[in-house]
Parts: sequence; C-alpha cells; structure tokens
Amino acid sequence: MRWIDRGPEPTDVAQYAQQYTPGWVDYFQSGAGERPTDFLWSLFRPALGQSSNNNCWYCERQCDFAGDLAPTIDHFRPLSLFPQLAYAWANWIFSCRRCNSDNKKDNWPEPGYVDPCADDVAERPERYFDYDAETGEIIPMNGLSGAALQRARHTINDLGLNKLDVMYYRLQWTRQFLADLLALPVSERQAFAEYITQQPAEYAGTTTMLVAQLRQTGHLHPI
Ligand SMILES: [Zn+2]
Repeated sequence: MRWIDRGPEPTDVAQYAQQYTPGWVDYFQSGAGERPTDFLWSLFRPALGQSSNNNCWYCERQCDFAGDLAPTIDHFRPLSLFPQLAYAWANWIFSCRRCNSDNKKDNWPEPGYVDPCADDVAERPERYFDYDAETGEIIPMNGLSGAALQRARHTINDLGLNKLDVMYYRLQWTRQFLADLLALPVSERQAFAEYITQQPAEYAGTTTMLVAQLRQTGHLHPI
C-alpha cells in the first residue's frame, strides 16, 4: 500500500450527496424505510481507478473486470456504520472485490484502518508498513506501538494482505524487479529504481519499500 492522491472531488458528487445520503441515514441509523437502491458512487469508479492505473489501493493488484479482482468502490468507513458518508468523496477507496467485499466488509475495528489517501502525512501508509522481501509479507513498521500498531495489524489481517496467494504474487513481482535491477550496470540501477517506483504499477508501494531497504543497506547507491 502507498499513499494515493484521489484528486479533486468531481462537481456532481455534492449534488448526489444531498439527494441520496438521507435515505442511507434513515435506513441504517433510524431503521426507517427500505434499504436504498442507489449505488451512484460506482459512477466515479473509473475516475478513482485512474489515480492508480486501476490497481487496488489496498492490495496493489491490477483490477480485472471479473472475479475476485473486479474493481469496486469501498466505503473506507463502512456504509452501514457511517451512512452519513455514503456519498463522501473522501470516503471512497478504489478496491478489488476481494479486499472490499470478501475481506474488509462492514468491519471497523476500534483503531480504524490505515487510510491509503490520508491527508495527514503522519497517517499515510508509508508510516505504517514495511515489506519483508524474504517472505513476501507486509509487516507493521518497526517502532509502531499502541493504537498505531493495532491499526497496522488490523489493516494487514482484515484485508488479507498476507494471504498466501496475495503474498505469492507480491513476491513474484519483487523478485522480477530485483532480477531486472541486477541485470543492469550498477550506474543505471538507481535511475531504473526511480522510474519503476514512480509508475502507478502493480505493487508500486511494495517496490518503493524494497528500494528504500536497498538504499539503507548500501545495495543501491544514490546517483
Ligand atoms: Zn485488493
């Protein structure tokens, strides 16, 4: 995971929010009426997906148009618990179906989750996660404690970021990246690493964490 700029709110969102939010609030908070059938946030899915070249903002896999990796809009604060945020642009996360509907669902643990789009720099994924390139696991950043550590753990576990197949593809990707990097002359490696980590590619966040480790251990020298 890495920080994503979801961009400015499209002009239509405020109008939809005004028109349709009360129905969701009535249903979930007041227990009044039928469950609404408007899902107009899905109209904004392509705009959100553009920010990451259609890679899921949680697991960083490329979304596909069917199956587990179908693109969806996740309500970061779940619709059933925060119906007032049904049409809040800042609450919409571009997510694969598996991360959203199969794993995260309507959960909202006490410390919340790490927000891929946090405005506050101190709350961004880069402050919460590291990568274990030996195992392919996403791990809480060293030094986290208390609520921050809980938030990191809940995000990793509840979203299934270290499920076997997710780890497997992540590991495949980073091994390929390392193979490509090592095949280059030493003088070209830094530029290649810069280029790859700036692309909205699959596992861009993971690759960025790996590059940071290579720099720290002296395996990748600044230009
Ligand atoms: Zn995902």
